[in-house]
Amino acid sequence: MASNSAIFWFRRDLRLTDNAALFTALNHHERVVCVFIFDPTILTPLPRDDRRVAFIWRSLSSLKRRLRAHGSDLVVAVDHPAAAICRLARTFGVSAVYAAEDYEPDARTRDAAVDEALSAQGSRLELIQDHVLFARDQLLTRTGRPYTVFTPYKRAWLAQLSPEAWQPWQSHALLHKLCPLKEHPLPTLPELGFANTDLEPLGWFAEEDDAQHALAVFATRIDQYHQQRDFPALNGTSRLSPHLRFGTLSIRAAIALASETSGPGASAWLNELIWREFYQQLLWHFPHAAETSFRSAYRQLPFPNRQDWFDAWREGRTGYPLVDAAMRQLRQTGWMHNRLRMVTASFLVKDLLIDWRWGERHFARWLMDFDLAANNGGWQWAASTGCDAQPWFRIFNPVTQSKRFDPDGQFIRQFVPELAPCSNKDIHAPWLSHRLPGHYPPPLVDHARQREEALTLFQQRP
Ligand SMILES: Cc1cc2nc3c(=O)[nH]c(=O)nc-3n(C[C@H](O)[C@H](O)[C@H](O)COP(=O)(O)OP(=O)(O)OC[C@H]3O[C@@H](n4cnc5c(N)ncnc54)[C@H](O)[C@@H]3O)c2cc1C
Repeated sequence: MASNSAIFWFRRDLRLTDNAALFTALNHHERVVCVFIFDPTILTPLPRDDRRVAFIWRSLSSLKRRLRAHGSDLVVAVDHPAAAICRLARTFGVSAVYAAEDYEPDARTRDAAVDEALSAQGSRLELIQDHVLFARDQLLTRTGRPYTVFTPYKRAWLAQLSPEAWQPWQSHALLHKLCPLKEHPLPTLPELGFANTDLEPLGWFAEEDDAQHALAVFATRIDQYHQQRDFPALNGTSRLSPHLRFGTLSIRAAIALASETSGPGASAWLNELIWREFYQQLLWHFPHAAETSFRSAYRQLPFPNRQDWFDAWREGRTGYPLVDAAMRQLRQTGWMHNRLRMVTASFLVKDLLIDWRWGERHFARWLMDFDLAANNGGWQWAASTGCDAQPWFRIFNPVTQSKRFDPDGQFIRQFVPELAPCSNKDIHAPWLSHRLPGHYPPPLVDHARQREEALTLFQQRP
């Protein structure tokens, strides 16, 4: 192989179109080999039926097909990344390895180890910004510090935005520079130790064409986003989060849609994409938040952490219908509506008085779109322990939220079918009607009382 060759390493950017790191590799080198590494450190703790692994596997098999059509292939290894990348770099005689930058603390440690190992054999790791529009240090306050409050961050972000920022990288146009390869095997899911989970019935399609299609479909209803986004029974949000998480869709394509469409729907959607960027840069600058409360004052709160209450919460049997419907939606479909992520997180911390990190871990187990930055940011926001979080004395009332955002109980009926016979009025607090239907439990706690307990608990911070 030519000495001016490189490896492109797929991670959170599982697409061939508008891929910044792939473009850079193809642009700077005569030949490029595409690789993916299944890291046993990540895979081993996961349950056999983890849907994210199935999603990744489907994306990879689609990438493989496309690379084969260009006379190349996807080289897949199951090994620790430093060992695998160094071995592949030697095998293909490459001078550099390209990958998209990843802000998660474990990924940063991994990449430093890979870079060191590559340097020892005369090669290097080149990390390219792809996952966010504006990188970690691109937006800083006037005093050169990272933003910790969303509104000024958003102002700075919008001031920096120009059409050039969302122009797609023309990686697709350079695919003729892929290295010709004979076929390399892709291990099956069972060979990797996972079940052949069927994602399609749950509405998850993992190819980059599926992501483009989902974006195009959402474009037809983006005008209503600001009016519909808070109602879980409506198909009001984009559901693009797994695609943005795994990079089957580029962030630039999403921002292009939001920016090139006028009206309140598109600007409300752009606002959410900016939240995504806000949490990404926070994780980069404050990696300690991945382990503990962003604000030190909230690190020692004496949460009673009742295991039986936690079990009831995660299994959707708290007796609060909206909370239970949401928790069942998470397990059944791998997704939960944003409004309900806020309601269930608040309920766990402020009604059940359980450490937010327990809930964060549960979401990390089940969410198809699990992303450390967004999940941690969302949990710390709801628990009032994060930067720019909701004030600790503001506590969601799960019944009021239910009446407001699922007024006819349509969403509740879908996931808590035992409450289907309830009237629209009774369904939000069924214990107030004569008889609880079916096996539906009475409320685990009294919200008004727990609210007072939470206020007392939060007052104990130093
Ligand atoms: C407790 C909690 C945990 C969360 N965990 C995650 C997570 O693990 N992964 C994740 O992607 N999002 C998370 N979110 C944010 C948000 O709930 C999801 O991004 C959103 O529900 C995904 O659905 P959608 O694609 O239809 O969103 P849309 O409303 O269509 O928004 C478009 C995109 O913007 C981004 N986005 C939207 N809202 C937020 C937000 N508040 N913070 C960061 N990014 C946002 C997502 O990438 C999303 O796909 C969490 C929120 C809370 C309150």
